[in-house]
Amino acid sequence: MKKLPIHIKILIGMIVGIIFGLLAINFNVSSFTMDWIKPFGTIFINMLKLIAVPLVLVSLIDGISNLTDMSKLSRIGGKTIAFYLASTVTAITIGLILVNSIKPGEFLPEAKRIELGEKYASEANLKVEDASDMQEAGPLQPLIDIVPDNFFNAASNNRNMLQVIFFAVIFGIAMIMTPTDKSKPVKGFFDGANAVILRIVDIIMKFAPYAVFALMAGLIVEIAGDDPAGALDLFKALGVYAVNVLVALGLMVFLFYPLIIHFFTKIKVKDFFKGIFPAQMLAFSTSSSAATLPVTMERVEQNLGVSEEVSSFVLPLGATINMDGTSIHQAVSAVFIAQAFGHDLTIADQLVIVLTATLSSIGSAAVPSAGLIMLVIVLGAIGVEPAGLALIIALDRPLDMCRTIVNVTGDATVASLVATTEGEQLELVDDTAVLVKD
Ligand code: ASP
Repeated sequence: MKKLPIHIKILIGMIVGIIFGLLAINFNVSSFTMDWIKPFGTIFINMLKLIAVPLVLVSLIDGISNLTDMSKLSRIGGKTIAFYLASTVTAITIGLILVNSIKPGEFLPEAKRIELGEKYASEANLKVEDASDMQEAGPLQPLIDIVPDNFFNAASNNRNMLQVIFFAVIFGIAMIMTPTDKSKPVKGFFDGANAVILRIVDIIMKFAPYAVFALMAGLIVEIAGDDPAGALDLFKALGVYAVNVLVALGLMVFLFYPLIIHFFTKIKVKDFFKGIFPAQMLAFSTSSSAATLPVTMERVEQNLGVSEEVSSFVLPLGATINMDGTSIHQAVSAVFIAQAFGHDLTIADQLVIVLTATLSSIGSAAVPSAGLIMLVIVLGAIGVEPAGLALIIALDRPLDMCRTIVNVTGDATVASLVATTEGEQLELVDDTAVLVKD
C-alpha cells in the first residue's frame, strides 16, 4: 500500500468512500458519517485553502523576481491571457454546438415545465439574491475588483485571489527594479519561504487519500439525504442535460487538450495525464480549483517540467480566470433552461452567451458552486427567467466536480504550452519531468 503512487491511493480512497457512503445509508449510519468522517475531509480542504494564499503570494513574487527580463514577463502575461481566452471560447462553442443539437430541454413536456419552474422558484430566489449584486455592477466592475484597497482584506479571503495576484505582480516587478544590494535579502527570504511552503503542500498531500475517502462518503450521504422528488420526465431531461454537459467536458479533456499537448508542446500526452492526474482527482473531490491549486502547481512543476517562473504566474491566474469547464456548464445550462421554458434563442442570443459565459466564467470564484451562481448573469443577458436555475440545482454538485477537473486540466495545458513557447524542454527521468532550458 505504501508503495502505491499517490493518484492510485486517491482513487482507492474515492471508491472506498463511495462504497462506504452507500453502505452508511443502507445501515443507517448516515449521521455517524456526517459527524465523525466528513469533518476529516473538511479539515483537509481547510488546510489546502490555508496554504493557497501564502503559496500564490510567495511563489508568484519569487517567480517574477527571477525574471530579470521585464519584456519576458509581459510576453508570458500576454500569451497566457490570449491562450486562456481562446480555450474558454472554444469550450463554450463546443458546449453550444452540442446543446443545440441534443436539445435536452425539449425532453420536458410543456405542463411539466411550468409546474417545475414554480416548485423550485423559492430555492432559486435564494441563489439569485447572491448574484443580483453582480448583475447591477457596471461594465468595468471586474477591472475595479482586481485592485484591492487593502492588502490584508484581499489576502484574508480565498475568493480575492486576483487581488493577491495583482499585489504579488507589483511587488515582484518592484523587486526587479530595486538595486540588487537592497533586494537581495528580500529575494533570499522569498526563495526560502517558497521552499518551505512547498514542503507544507507535500505534508498535506500525504493525507489526501484519506481525506478524499471522507469527502466522498460525506457527499454520498448528503446527496441521498435530499429528496429530489421529481417527475420521471424531469429526470429524463436532466439526465440528457447532464450527459450533454459531460460529453462537452469530455471533449475538452480527451480531445482538445490532448491535441494541444500533442501538437504544440514537447510533453507526451500519456505523461501529461499521468502527471496531472492527482490534481484532477483532487479537483473532482473538492470541486474547487483554488483548493486544488497547490497540487496543480506541484505536479506541473515536478512532473510536467514547467519552470516555477512560468507555473507560478500561469497557474494561479488560471485558477482564477480560466474556467473552461465552468464556461461549458454555463453555456449548456443557459440553453437548456431556455429550451425547458420554451424560449427560442436566436443566433444573436447564442453570441451573447459566448460573451457573457466567457466573462462570468472569468468572474466565477474557484470554489464549489460559484459557476452556478454566476449563471444568473448569462440567463439575464438572454432574457431567461433566473428561477430556471432551480431546475439544475440538484445536479450541480456532481457536474461541478467534473467541470472543476476541466478547469484544472485547462490551466495545466496552458502552463505546458506557455513553457514550450518559452523554450523550456521536458525530459522524463524516472517518471519525473526534468526541465532543460534551450
Ligand atoms: N467549482 C469550480 C472551480 O472551482 C467553479 C465552478 O464552476 O463552480 O473551478
